[in-house]
Amino acid sequence: MDTDKRRAALIDMDGVLYDSMKYHTLAWRQMMGEYGLDIPRDEFYLYEGMTGTATIDLIWEHEFGKKCDPGQIERMYHRKTEIFKELGRKERMAGADRMLETFRSAGWERVLVTGSSQASLLDMIESDYPGAFGEGMRVTARDVTHGKPSPEPYLKGASLAGVAPERCIVVENAPLGVRAGKAAGCLTVAVTTGPIPREAFEKEGADMIFNNMGEFADSLPGLIQSLEAESK
Ligand code: CA
Repeated sequence: MDTDKRRAALIDMDGVLYDSMKYHTLAWRQMMGEYGLDIPRDEFYLYEGMTGTATIDLIWEHEFGKKCDPGQIERMYHRKTEIFKELGRKERMAGADRMLETFRSAGWERVLVTGSSQASLLDMIESDYPGAFGEGMRVTARDVTHGKPSPEPYLKGASLAGVAPERCIVVENAPLGVRAGKAAGCLTVAVTTGPIPREAFEKEGADMIFNNMGEFADSLPGLIQSLEAESK
């Protein structure tokens, strides 16, 4: 394939490949409760994509009007991770394997781009989605200075794939992730797999919005075909 014709899919993990956000939000709420903070569970869906540190900082600033001590942040995030491990089950998102296979058979590069650094989930990718991502084709919280909504994670993903951002599709389920994808200059698809209303994704400028992963997987062959036809 002509290198100029190459394209890539930059794919988020939680809420896209795994139906894991319900456990993450519960773990966040429970951890904050242990620190005396009563934060509604759904609020954490809005912070999705941010690093754990950024999320804690934002809440601390909001509750107490000051920065959180780094040692405290570390303890809180560690506790959230512990609770998530107790609660979390690995549930693959229905339709995600079909989506990945469609990109693969079309010859598109695939890069995993996640705000998570949780080894327990990252390790599962290869056994749950064998061959879906090439060796080293992942950007995690450990690889970036700024998490989403900064474009940095998606720019790094495009660079790993060796494909210009405007020739990449970002697949996201979180408004801040959509903001990051758009800021990176990618065609950004939102799949609303959680309780966040469609309007939140429209506000962030999502290029396309699907109600679930199966719906996106159904539309993907047609979408790929029309994108590839455009560039001929
Ligand atoms: Ca996500």
